[in-house]
Amino acid sequence: MYTSVLRFAPSPNGYLHLGHAYSALLNFDMARELGGRFILRIEDIDAARCRPEYEAAIYEDLRWLGISWVEPVRRQSQHLADYQAAIAKLESAGLVYPSFESRSEINALVTERERHGPWPRDPDGVPLYPGRARQMSMVERERRRRAGEPFALRLATDAAVARAGVLSWSETARGPRAETRRVTAVPQQWGDVVLARKELPTSYHLSVVVDDALQGVTNVVRGQDLFWSTSIHRLLQALLGLPDPVYHHHRLITDDDGRKLSKATHATSLRELRAAGVSAADVKRMVGLGR
Ligand code: GLU
Repeated sequence: MYTSVLRFAPSPNGYLHLGHAYSALLNFDMARELGGRFILRIEDIDAARCRPEYEAAIYEDLRWLGISWVEPVRRQSQHLADYQAAIAKLESAGLVYPSFESRSEINALVTERERHGPWPRDPDGVPLYPGRARQMSMVERERRRRAGEPFALRLATDAAVARAGVLSWSETARGPRAETRRVTAVPQQWGDVVLARKELPTSYHLSVVVDDALQGVTNVVRGQDLFWSTSIHRLLQALLGLPDPVYHHHRLITDDDGRKLSKATHATSLRELRAAGVSAADVKRMVGLGR
């Protein structure tokens, strides 16, 4: 029986870069330090962007870095029923509602609201949901769903927060004498987030919370860019009766201009570095984990 379980959870929508290498190596090292288990999860719910060759490259790149994981690998696209069950639970608690606006209708609503002053944005800079679908009658909701209209299932965040009460999480630094502090969750900063869509019964927030619980993850180690997502994750854990792991949000690897590495900034992939003669030991040094 392992007491600690850590995971690396990449999305196969591109090749891994140094930022992924840092996150994966850190998880792997921390799992070893804790005498725990390291698992790999493939977050491939976005069928339009995920590709099998990227998934194959993830395995190849991680092995090259000297990382091994406990099989089987969980691929989210194979577990949609688990997410559907979680959504059903939230629905029966009356905490989820469908909204029917298209993306451009939402943009137009935000523009409209901004005529009266700035409209709030979430921690990723995306405007909060501006619509009024929550006030729609049950009859109207059912009529539109039956008519086959596309919809997004949203969390009624205020009602959910009222139900769950004040929440916080343990944020830990790294190392044997690392300090742990409590961070107060602020789920309201995300507004009524989308938890599922007509064509996909899940979302990043929902599936990550369901999977971390199902896989017994005790320590979530991931990038600082996901720090405030933890507010929504804590809320979903509380509503679904799931345990809360300890969190460690690590520094991000940046490029020479100080920007976070990403597909958008055309970060050099690990496979390109490898082809250019860079070794796994070099990669560890490059991300500050060299020995
Ligand atoms: N799949 C997410 C990503 O690639 C990571 C999710 C997580 O660690 O919570 O950014």
